Amino acid sequence: MPYTVDAHGKKLVTLIPGDGIGPEVTAAARKILTAAHAPITWEDRTAGASVFKAGLASGVPPETVESIRRTRVVLKGPLETPVGFGEKSANVTLRKLFETFANIRPVRELPGVRTPYSGRGIDLVIVRENVEDLYAGIEYQQTPTVAESLKLMSRLGCEKIVRLAFELARAEGRKKVHCATKANILKLTEGLLKKTFEEVSREYPEIESQHIIVDNCAHQLVKAPEQFDVIVTSNMNGDILSDEGSALVGGLGFAPSANLGNDVAIFEAVHGSAPKYAGKNVINPTALILSSVLLLRHLEEFEIARRVEEAVLVTLEEAKVPTRDVVGEAVASSTSAFTDEVIRNLGRSPGKPPRREYRPLKMPQRPTLPAPPLRQYEGLDVFLETTVPPGKLGAELRSLVEGTPFLLGGISNRGTRTWPETGAMTDLVDHTQVRFLLRNPVGDFPSEAVRTLLGRLEGRYPWMHLEVLQRFGTFQGYTRSQGDD
Ligand code: NAP
Repeated sequence: MPYTVDAHGKKLVTLIPGDGIGPEVTAAARKILTAAHAPITWEDRTAGASVFKAGLASGVPPETVESIRRTRVVLKGPLETPVGFGEKSANVTLRKLFETFANIRPVRELPGVRTPYSGRGIDLVIVRENVEDLYAGIEYQQTPTVAESLKLMSRLGCEKIVRLAFELARAEGRKKVHCATKANILKLTEGLLKKTFEEVSREYPEIESQHIIVDNCAHQLVKAPEQFDVIVTSNMNGDILSDEGSALVGGLGFAPSANLGNDVAIFEAVHGSAPKYAGKNVINPTALILSSVLLLRHLEEFEIARRVEEAVLVTLEEAKVPTRDVVGEAVASSTSAFTDEVIRNLGRSPGKPPRREYRPLKMPQRPTLPAPPLRQYEGLDVFLETTVPPGKLGAELRSLVEGTPFLLGGISNRGTRTWPETGAMTDLVDHTQVRFLLRNPVGDFPSEAVRTLLGRLEGRYPWMHLEVLQRFGTFQGYTRSQGDD
């Protein structure tokens, strides 16, 4: 069971109202779920701005962490990311603390919400990897003018997110999964996701699988969004695609989400704390109410989830209490009027009820990875802080490696080869990648050779970054520079 049941048979949920408009949208969802007789015991906890202000840099106090460990299910309002105090986003802290590795964002056309896409039948889910990739935020200022961000993607992370996408397709009776990557350029990181997708898809023969390059995916989402069913993608790409997706069906006021892990699930709207509307009773609570529908399905309360979802759809369809983001300020109804109307509509069905049958989602467990293939060490990339012109640098480094196990393989600047010269008109910056290749690749790490090489560089060329060039079986574990033959 992905949740905890108390002594009265009710399911425990940690409720974090959050910042800005958070308390209003979470109160709306709670009121509706209570009216729908959802068997939930709420545990109220804090996180976000008030916690940062009290001096806790993580923004998530220990009593909140303790509650989540016990309940394993959270309904959360948006949390402000502090500017000027505190360091990390409390949202990202929560996602990483509980390894909620999947971010699920349904994108569906809603009745009564007019958009340029109305009538196209958009009904897709974006499955975004949630803890790896550039969002790990591992960054370094490497020289006075060059910064680096590490894009780390693992086989474990790729396999879990891809399996989850296929399991979600199964649980929701969906027929097709697209995998959106930038594997044409980022052959190792994004390529790992593509390769994993191609392998795992064979285990789901009843579901159509297709790879798509992410920029084309963004383009196709605008052109013909109805062609998509499930899209699985990496963290940064998913962040962008899912905001694009929410814009297709009415905007942030309508976009729900779930952060799923093996132990904990956190349900929240995609939108932020919209501080200018805080306490004004004017914002649209639909996104958080639909997030609570996802929560109900996670609690295996499928019938109550259907009732709440249908009540929301009737409310939108009849448009008796439209919110400010749909009809503008002058004629809009309040957040509380919308909430009360949803409660009145519990038990009613919309003109076109949703046809989907939902089943419990089978969460992928930590996969057993195959034994690693034989590894060979082929060389070393040393990143130097220098502005010495490539021709001169090449000549100097060639004589520097004489008598060592290395030869000079090439020099590049921001990924473009500058030595041997190609005639490329590269803007040089103070960050130079030098490839030293072992004359004879070896099976054990060549410590002595590396020490000799770094010793020779010392005092002449400051370096700030090293990468070991390795081959895993027949797979070359590093890329070539732009311009290499
Ligand atoms: P935002 O809070 O999402 O608001 C941006 C705009 O979206 C609002 O000004 C409003 O547009 C519209 N909007 C958002 N929620 C709405 C709703 N429920 N109903 C109707 N319209 C809605 O984004 P932000 O201003 O960039 O971020 C504010 C704070 O929220 C930041 O501190 C940010 O870090 C945080 N944040 C938190 C989360 C999270 O907790 N998961 C997510 C995103 C951002 P109009 O101005 O056009 O009316």
